[in-house]
Amino acid sequence: MRIVVASGKGGTGKTTVATSLALSAGESSVRFIDCDVEAPNAALFLHPMLDTRKAVGIQLPVVDEALCTHCGRCAEVCEFHAIAVIGKKILIFPQLCHGCGSCTLICPEKAISERLDVMGVLESGMTATGVDFAQGVMNVGEPMAVPIIRELKKWDGLSLRAPAKQSPNESGGLLPEGRNDTIEIRDAPPGASCPVVETMRGADFILLVTEPTPFGLHDLKQVVGIARELGIPSGVVINRDGIGDNAVEAYCAEAGLPILMRIPMERYIAEGVAQGKTLVDIHPEYKDRFRQMFMQIASLL
Ligand code: SF4
Ligand code: SF4
Repeated sequence: MRIVVASGKGGTGKTTVATSLALSAGESSVRFIDCDVEAPNAALFLHPMLDTRKAVGIQLPVVDEALCTHCGRCAEVCEFHAIAVIGKKILIFPQLCHGCGSCTLICPEKAISERLDVMGVLESGMTATGVDFAQGVMNVGEPMAVPIIRELKKWDGLSLRAPAKQSPNESGGLLPEGRNDTIEIRDAPPGASCPVVETMRGADFILLVTEPTPFGLHDLKQVVGIARELGIPSGVVINRDGIGDNAVEAYCAEAGLPILMRIPMERYIAEGVAQGKTLVDIHPEYKDRFRQMFMQIASLL
């Protein structure tokens, strides 16, 4: 079961929910993927031993001028205008290149090879509680997060390490009978643009963390729009419940979005999170609430 925790904007408690969800899965095998590659911070709460790393980026074309006949086919096939043929010159614009490989494939002279343009690093390791953790860290100044998130999602640095656990029904795990897959939790980047879409792609459920304010409602609507576009069911966690108004609640009722949890606005929760504690560290009773939420999500799929 793959659950994306998203919020549309930063500072709503998305990572607080995602990390506590991971720590509440009991005996089920859990993977946690921090897809907020521009500013990953879930490791500050889960404390994994990061012992595996891999450079990541896109394959940029390199043209062998000795073989090139300047036919122009590579420039024609490039929908991003990242390669141009001007007379007897070939120009490559790395900032525009998406590393799709079409130019390499189409070149009739085999004049194009590829080199990895490193955009960041993938890191993984286990936490003390047995969560298989991975994050992507994008180099400062890189324009595109999506290629890093895409690689992170399919990185086998995760599955190579994942401990073989019993099926959930033998182990008292959380998934319903017949479902013995790993629970994968993806912490999404803030916003409602391409990195969020890439994080959501292939997920089974989107958990939307919001707060009951006009800003919260505005951003919630945006991410609900993406989840619906992708055809993925979703539910809502209202954080800082008690502030603002009831417009989020009214919207959820109207849009048919189940409210799966409410976390009240409490000063001691905010202080604990600021000290790097997870919600279930601060308030152990929440483990049961998160476990119930897992089961509710499984029943919605
Ligand atoms: S397709 Fe190959 S041969 Fe043609 S212009 Fe591009 S690099 Fe040169
Ligand atoms: S790899 Fe794709 S995006 Fe990059 S120059 Fe070639 S065709 Fe264009």
